[in-house]
Amino acid sequence: MRSPLGHPVGLSLGTAVALCGALTTCRFPTAPPLPPGAEVITPPAVYARWWAMTESCSGVRGPFQDVTFFEIPGVSDFESVGRRVVGYWTSAGDQIVLAGNAVLDGGSVRHEMLHALIRIGGHPRDQYLEKCAGVVDCGAACIADAGSAPPADPTALTILPSSLEVTTEISPAAPTSDRDGGFFVVRVAVRNTLQRPVIAKLSPTTTARALSFQYDVRGLTGGTVGAEVALDPSVVTFAPGEVKRQYFDFAIGNDLPGRRLPPGTYTVVGAYGSHRSDAAAVTVGP
Ligand SMILES: [Zn+2]
Repeated sequence: MRSPLGHPVGLSLGTAVALCGALTTCRFPTAPPLPPGAEVITPPAVYARWWAMTESCSGVRGPFQDVTFFEIPGVSDFESVGRRVVGYWTSAGDQIVLAGNAVLDGGSVRHEMLHALIRIGGHPRDQYLEKCAGVVDCGAACIADAGSAPPADPTALTILPSSLEVTTEISPAAPTSDRDGGFFVVRVAVRNTLQRPVIAKLSPTTTARALSFQYDVRGLTGGTVGAEVALDPSVVTFAPGEVKRQYFDFAIGNDLPGRRLPPGTYTVVGAYGSHRSDAAAVTVGP
């Protein structure tokens, strides 16, 4: 499960000027001041793939090499413009600044990459919650910034997840450490096979939030499960024939709950609501 991400809506000119007055190393107007401890990083190999994924979902292409990445080592979030955030993008200098613990979190990194591609500090709903839903994280703050979801089609039929088609794919199909650092994605897709709009009725959970996309990965050395919480109504409304998908990032490693799998063969099952896909198999690494 993921915690809601906070992402600022971009530094305003006035804010940047105010910050500059108090700092000794001021880079404005080239770029707003970096948070304390921020260091330039060489983008991990998998970033090129994550950039391409974000280009693909958004329909916007841009030069990856123009972005400068920074991390703040050893933190899960940091303060930016008075808010705790996991990361931010700024057009000045085309910088992406990430909490160190989020540097290899695909959903968070792709969230900032989407800002860099669309050149917008805010969170337009058509990108963050429609075209790139399931590719980039969009937590509570992002959803609030995106504004209300459009009302559901009044002619939509309410159905159970079992009436939808759920499939699971793994890419690359045989991940190895020497390819993009061993990263791979489990893509869970759900399709409305009907020629009419539907609303999926997800089972409520004890936490009062329903689970949408889920994964269940099992191997000889153990397994791990995880899920997305349905935070935005758009995750349950389907146009005729619509496909929604969620990418879960994994890598080779030794931390099952952290989605770092020791080399071996695994059975992977995705689900949407209570409806599970057929099992897929993957041989991971070394
Ligand atoms: Zn953001």
